[in-house]
Formats: sequence, C-alpha cells, structure tokens
Amino acid sequence: MNTSAHELQFDARGRLRHLITLAGIERGRLDALLDRAEAMRRDSREGTRPLDLLAGRTAINLFFEPSTRTRTSFDLAAQRLGAQVINFDIARSSTVKGETLLDTIHTLEAMHCDAFVVRHQEAGTPAYIARHLRTRAAVLNAGDGNHAHPTQGLLDALTLRRRFTDLSALRVVICGDIQHSRVARSDVHALQTLGVRDLRLCAPPGLLPDSDSPAATVEFPQCRVFHNFDEAIEGCNVAIMLRLQKERMDAAAIPSAADYFARYGLSATRLARANADCVVMHPGPINRKMEIADDVADGPRSLILEQVANGVYVRMAVLAELLQTA
Ligand code: ASP
Repeated sequence: MNTSAHELQFDARGRLRHLITLAGIERGRLDALLDRAEAMRRDSREGTRPLDLLAGRTAINLFFEPSTRTRTSFDLAAQRLGAQVINFDIARSSTVKGETLLDTIHTLEAMHCDAFVVRHQEAGTPAYIARHLRTRAAVLNAGDGNHAHPTQGLLDALTLRRRFTDLSALRVVICGDIQHSRVARSDVHALQTLGVRDLRLCAPPGLLPDSDSPAATVEFPQCRVFHNFDEAIEGCNVAIMLRLQKERMDAAAIPSAADYFARYGLSATRLARANADCVVMHPGPINRKMEIADDVADGPRSLILEQVANGVYVRMAVLAELLQTA
C-alpha cells in the first residue's frame, strides 16, 4: 500500500525530507519553519550574514502550470542561498515528444540535482514523483491541482504571525473558489495548526462542499461554511480572497464578473462589516473587479505584496531545511 503524502515527507529519523502537504505537520515543526523564515528575512534585509548555505546544490523548477510569484520566488530563494537553479522549460523539453514524467525525472536525477520544485495540474503528482525517486533529492510541492500549496500556507501564516500577536483570537474568512483552491486547503491546515479557531469558508454553493458533506468534514474540519459573504465577513480580522480558477471550471459554470463581484467580491463597503483591524490577503493572481476592488487590493489594509515578499523567505527556509538534511 502507498504511504500517505504526509508519511512520505519524513525520513526514517523523522526529519522533513520533502514538502508535499502541511496536513499533519505539527505545531512545533511549523513554528520552527516560520522562525527560520523570519531569520532569513532579517538576515536578508540587514545583509549581515552570508546566506550561502546551499552553495554547490542544484534545484530544478518543474512547472507544468503557469506561475509568476511561486516560480520566481523559489528561483530567488534558491539563488539567494547560493544554489544553482535550472528552470526546466517543459514546452521545449522531450515531454512534448511523449517522454513520461518519470523518465524525465530519472533523466534529471542522473545529472545530479538536489531538489525538484514541482507544480502540476494533477493533485498527487509531487507525491508520485517523491515515491519514485532514485536519489536523495527533495521534492517541494509548488501547487498540485486542488490538493496543496504548502509554501503558500506557510507564507500566509508568516504574514499573519508578523501582524498579530495572538492567532488563536483571530476570526478569519477565506472567500472565493474554495473547491478548486489548493491555497484554501493549505491555509486551513496552517492556520488551524497555529491555533486559529474561528475559521470561516465562504463561496457560491457550487464552489464549496456543504458543511455536513463528507468532503467538507474531512477536508475542512471545524470550519464554518457560509454562502453569504456579508454574513461571513462580519467581525473578521482577516479576509483571504481567492481567485476564481477558471482553468478548472466548465466555461458554462463561470459566473459573470459583475454578478460574482456583487455577491463574493471584496469592496470597501463590504470590508466595513469586518473588524476595524481587518487585513486583506490574496495569493494572486488577482482578477481585479471580480474578486476584489482596486481600492481594497491597493489600499492600506492590503497585505498582498507583503505576502509576496514573505514568500521568498519562507521558500529559503524550506529549501535550507530540506537540503541541509538531505
Ligand atoms: N497562485 C495560487 C496557486 O497557484 C493561487 C491561484 O492561482 O489562484 O494556487
């Protein structure tokens, strides 16, 4: 029987070997990764310590789906730690000649590499690769289908931990296309592990399993499900907005931008229903005027670019953690 994605990511001594999912990663380990990211942030900004921890190491970015933030951020993170980075060009590779994924992986392993950073449209692909490696390379999940986006979960947690001293007191709403969102799943794991108790999920009925369905109780335990955003955002300290993942939907199911914004978009008026300290987050890319109004996305409550900045430090911390122990 296959080991679970969670078991797969630890070696025999219990050290993190791959990062596939945040599900089941306990609080102490999560805090330690975030502390390390915080230290990376400080050292990078102060420029006081050499950060060449990964000199002589090679990371390969294997992105089967488009990406702006995650790929650039992994690339910068590895380079800032002194590693060599290859951005594997799938469109010009033998993948288009029909080479299988595992043949590609084993070919790249034969050239010696220490880490594969993998984004794929199919949930489970990073775990599949990790199970079939022939070397000690680490696999870092950069987003697989709607399953997980662990470094996004970590960077969102870091962003909130830097803003609020007590996460357990927060009321958080995650709003948008929950069904297709790996970010929502990883954020729920990270935030619940860090003690957030009042976690609300809000989406159109077709984009969020009902709260009593097995899918919701297994995937989103202890979350309150809303279909009315005005109610869900009431008194919240954090609003995490999600992109409508049109590439994972039938064209007929995609709502008009105006209708969607009216019900599920974050306008300044709707934000006024939240707590006065409410911050606004979005993993990007944003569909402006659909998920979020310009004045909110660019306004003083927005942490969107702070999330981007923290993404580099989180990825530095994860790469250092995995490759130093590999
Ligand atoms: N960039 C995030 C992801 O890859 C969110 C999104 O695409 O909507 O999951």
